[in-house]
Amino acid sequence: MNITTKEQIMEILHMTADVYQRDIMPEAKKVYAQNNDNAVRVTAMLGYSNVCKNQCLYCGMRAGNTAIERYRIESQEVIAMGKNARELGLKRIFLISGEDPLYKFEEILTFVRALNEMGFFISLAAGEYNRQQYEELKSAGVDEYVMKFEMSNEAEFNRLNPSTNFKKRMQAIEEVKQSGMLLASGNIVGYPGQRMSDIADDILLMKKLDISWAPIIPYLPAAGTPLAEEGGRGNLNTNLKEISVLRLMMPHINITAAQPGENMKNGLSDVEGNLNALKAGANLFFVDMLPAAMAKNFHVIDDRLIHGLEHVHQLAKLADMQVKL
Ligand code: SF4
Repeated sequence: MNITTKEQIMEILHMTADVYQRDIMPEAKKVYAQNNDNAVRVTAMLGYSNVCKNQCLYCGMRAGNTAIERYRIESQEVIAMGKNARELGLKRIFLISGEDPLYKFEEILTFVRALNEMGFFISLAAGEYNRQQYEELKSAGVDEYVMKFEMSNEAEFNRLNPSTNFKKRMQAIEEVKQSGMLLASGNIVGYPGQRMSDIADDILLMKKLDISWAPIIPYLPAAGTPLAEEGGRGNLNTNLKEISVLRLMMPHINITAAQPGENMKNGLSDVEGNLNALKAGANLFFVDMLPAAMAKNFHVIDDRLIHGLEHVHQLAKLADMQVKL
């Protein structure tokens, strides 16, 4: 199935759930299996700081949200947590923080170098830096930088991300690519006010940017944020359709499989939500390295709950797939 146009994407986004599940979902799953090795991928995940100077209207970690306790994990402790991940057999690590002005760039380079020496494939999401800093991150050992564009609709981006702007974000994305790091990027699916045609544009932008990982997720309202007052969670079926379209358009990329189901109490480890994501063509799970007391405060969304490696093995078995660490 060759999908290249906005019209083709819109047709799938508008399909009934029955037709999508019959005609598109199995095709996307087949494309994943044929082009990869029918194995789920796993990455350690470490939210090393939940401090952020920004005010994104949808994010629970936005500056000034007093509903969470802030923490910062210093570089030596990040390295120790990386060792724990290696002992579990994990070979990928995803390091993520808010735009924390007091977390020294040199500290980030220190833990990146150490994790690189341990042999990790390193993904980093730490916000907007300058061109030279992306190059330093690349030299230190960051393989992939996660810089979401969140929404390709410029006016909506500027409304929902008042601490930056769309042109600046796209410039940052361009500089990440020029540094030689792989680019992970994507959108929020189903935030209040988003139209289907916006989602189609988002998908086309991901293709154009030649992303390595689509870290996508349906919009989930976070307590204490302005956008939570505008509307509820994004549609799960639309999210699954986006996963399938991305898989059909980009057979080799990673797509987040840690997706929610109907029951938000199960967070991103909902068995049904995770299995549906695998069926739709997603493949990448997280193993959270944070102690539970900190994990509950790494709070971009409510109920972010992520289980450990055992959960991933259980899911892979249910989906008749292997696990690739
Ligand atoms: S989305 Fe990222 S940059 Fe925006 S407030 Fe949340 S942590 Fe900060």
